[in-house]
Amino acid sequence: MPRDSRRTHSLRLLFLGSGSSGNATLVSGDSGSVLVDCGFSAKETLRRLSLHDVPAEEIRAILITHEHTDHTAGVRILAKRLNVPVFASSGTRRAGRLDYLIEDVRGLEAGEETSIAGLRVRAFRTSHDAADPIGFRFDAATGDSFGLVTDTGEFTPEAAEALTGCTFLGIEHNHDETMLANGPYPHFLKRRISSSFGHLSNTAASEALLQLAHDGLQAVAGLHVSRTNNRSEIVSGSLSASISSVGLDIPVTCVAQDRPCMMPLPATCA
Ligand SMILES: [Zn+2]
Ligand SMILES: [Zn+2]
Repeated sequence: MPRDSRRTHSLRLLFLGSGSSGNATLVSGDSGSVLVDCGFSAKETLRRLSLHDVPAEEIRAILITHEHTDHTAGVRILAKRLNVPVFASSGTRRAGRLDYLIEDVRGLEAGEETSIAGLRVRAFRTSHDAADPIGFRFDAATGDSFGLVTDTGEFTPEAAEALTGCTFLGIEHNHDETMLANGPYPHFLKRRISSSFGHLSNTAASEALLQLAHDGLQAVAGLHVSRTNNRSEIVSGSLSASISSVGLDIPVTCVAQDRPCMMPLPATCA
C-alpha cells in the first residue's frame, strides 16, 4: 500500500495544468493557499479551481517563476480580481513589466525566504532563458514540504540543495530526448529546448529525482510535459522506475495540460 494513504497531510497540492500552453499550481496549507504561476486566463484559472471546489478567496498570493506567457498570461487580471499580491524576482518584474501591470508586486529573490498563508516559502535559482527565473520550496509547520522546479535546462546544485528532504516534489519532465531529436521542431528550437537554459528531459529529471529521493518522500509529479516531444506514459514509466529503483512505493502523477489534478490524492489523474 502506498504510504501516502496512511496519514492526513497538512499540505495539499492542486496542479491546475502544466505545459507550454499554461502552468498553475495551488499550494494549500491550513491557513490559506498560494498560487504558483498563472499561465491560464483568470477565467480559466477560476474554472479549474471550481472543478475541485476550491474557493478562490483562499488564495493569499500569486508567485511567479518567470515571465514567459505560459506562466503569466492571467496574472494581471487574477491578482486584481482577488486583490492579492504578486511575488517575483527583480528580473522577472522588469522583464514581465509586472510593476506597471499589477498594483501590489513584491520582491522574492533566489536565496530568500518569506512566509505566506502559514507556509514558509523559499526561492531558488533555476537555469532557463528568462531574465531571472526561480523555483520554490514550501514548508508547512507540521513538517510537510513541497518542492517545485520547472522550466530549467539543468537541475542545478542550488535546486538540489533547496529541495533536499521534500515530502512532495513537482519536477519538470519536458521531453523525451529521442522524440525531440527526431520530432518536427526546427533545429534552433531543438537546440534551445535541450540547452542548459531550456527544459529538463526525462533522463535529466530522473537523475534529479534520484538525487532527491528519501524515505520521507510521499508523492512525485511530472510537470511541463511536451505534447509534441513526450508522452504521459513515458513520463509515468520514468517516474515509477526511478521511485522503485530506490525502494519506494509512492504515488506518481504525470500532470496534464488540459485538466487539473490533486496531489497527494488521488494517486493518478484520470
Ligand atoms: Zn513554461
Ligand atoms: Zn519558460
